Amino acid sequence: MNLSIKIFIALLLAAFVGIFAGPEGLPFIKWWIAPIGTIFINLIKMMIVPVVFTSLVVGMTSLGDTKTLGRIGIKTVAIYLVTTAIAIVIGFAIASAVHPGVGMQIASDATVNVKQAPSIMQVFVSMVPTNPVQSMAKAEILPVIVFAIFVGYGIIEVGGERAERLTKFFDAAAEVCYKIIAVIMRFSPIGVFALLLPVVAANGPKVLLPLISVIACMAIGSLIHVVAVYSSIASIGAKISPMKFFRGMAEAMLIAFSTCSSAGTLPVNMKNLQEKLGCSREVTSFVLPLGATINMDGTALYMGICSLFIANVFGVDLTMHQMLMIVFTGTLASIGTAGVPGAGLIMLAMVLQSVGLPIEGLALVAGIDRVLDMFRTCLNITGDAAVALAIDRSENGHVAA
Ligand code: ASP
Repeated sequence: MNLSIKIFIALLLAAFVGIFAGPEGLPFIKWWIAPIGTIFINLIKMMIVPVVFTSLVVGMTSLGDTKTLGRIGIKTVAIYLVTTAIAIVIGFAIASAVHPGVGMQIASDATVNVKQAPSIMQVFVSMVPTNPVQSMAKAEILPVIVFAIFVGYGIIEVGGERAERLTKFFDAAAEVCYKIIAVIMRFSPIGVFALLLPVVAANGPKVLLPLISVIACMAIGSLIHVVAVYSSIASIGAKISPMKFFRGMAEAMLIAFSTCSSAGTLPVNMKNLQEKLGCSREVTSFVLPLGATINMDGTALYMGICSLFIANVFGVDLTMHQMLMIVFTGTLASIGTAGVPGAGLIMLAMVLQSVGLPIEGLALVAGIDRVLDMFRTCLNITGDAAVALAIDRSENGHVAA
C-alpha cells in the first residue's frame, strides 16, 4: 500500500479513537501514546540540519556560479511575497463572507504569552551566524543556509582537485541523509497516529464547536488558495498537472498537517520533491529551506481570517487603511514566523497591534490554534514546493516527472 494512503488511514483512525476516548482518555494517551509521536518528530528533526546543510552545499556547487544563485534568489523571494499577500487577501475575502465571531460572546480562559515580534532589521541581523556550529546546534535554519551558501561559494572558488573531493563528500553525505529520511518515513503512519490522537482527544467537538466558523473559514480559505494559487503555479509555472502535483505532495502535506511544523516537514518535503516530482537537487535544496523559513502562506491566510474574526468579536469595523496595514504587517509577520508549532499565534499579536485590535483576542484563538495550525502548516509547505517546481522549470526547462 502507498505510504500516503497509510498515513491518511492513520489520520482517520486517530480522529475516530480520539473522539471516542475524549478528555477522559487523555491521561492514558499522554502517558503512553504521545511520546511515540514525540519520538517520530525528534527523528525527523534530527535530519533537518544535516539535510539542509549538505544538500544546500551540493546545490551551490552544482549551480556552478553565484550569478545563477542571485537570479534564483530574487525570483524565489518575489514569488513568495506575492503568494503570501494573496493568501491574506483570500483570508479577508472568506472572513468577510462568513462573518466569523459576529455577535459572539466567548469566555476564554486560555492565556497567551505575547512575545515581542522581531523587527525586520533584527531578522536580517539574526540571519548571519556568529558561530555556525552554534546555529546548527540550535537548528536555526536561516543562519545555517547563509553559512552553507558561503561554504558552497568557497568550494566553487577553490575549484580543481581539492574542491572536487569536498564536492563528492557533500554529495555522498546528502545522499545518506535522504536514505535515513526514507527509513524514518516508513514509521510515519505510527508517528502520525500518535501525534494526532492527543490533539483530537483534547480538542474534541466540544472545544471546537464555539469557534467552528473560524475553523471553517480556515479550511475553505486553504482550499481556495490551494486550488487557485498552487494549481496555477503547478500548471502554468511548472507545466505539471495539479493532480500529479498534489499526489506527489500528499505525504509531505499529511506530515505537515500532523506535525504542525514546516521546519520539521522540510526533510520529507525535500526528498519527495526530488524523488516524486523530479525537481532538480540544486533548486530543491535552495528554494525549499528558504521557503520553510520565510514563505508562510497558511500563516498569512490565518492572519487575515483571525484579525477579521477578532475585529468582529470586539465589534470593530476595519477601515480600508487598516486592512491594507494588515496585508503589509501580515506578510512581514509571516516571514518572521518560525516553522514550529504555534509560532503563528505569537506573530498574530504583531498584526493585531499594528491596527490597534485588542491583543486579548489572541486568547480566543489560542484554544483552537492547534487545529488552525494544521491547515496553515500544510499550506506553508505546499507553497514552497509549488514555487520550487516553477523555479526549476524556468531555470532548467525541466518538466516535472
Ligand atoms: N506551524 C507553522 C509552520 O510550521 C507556523 C505557524 O504557526 O504559523 O509552518
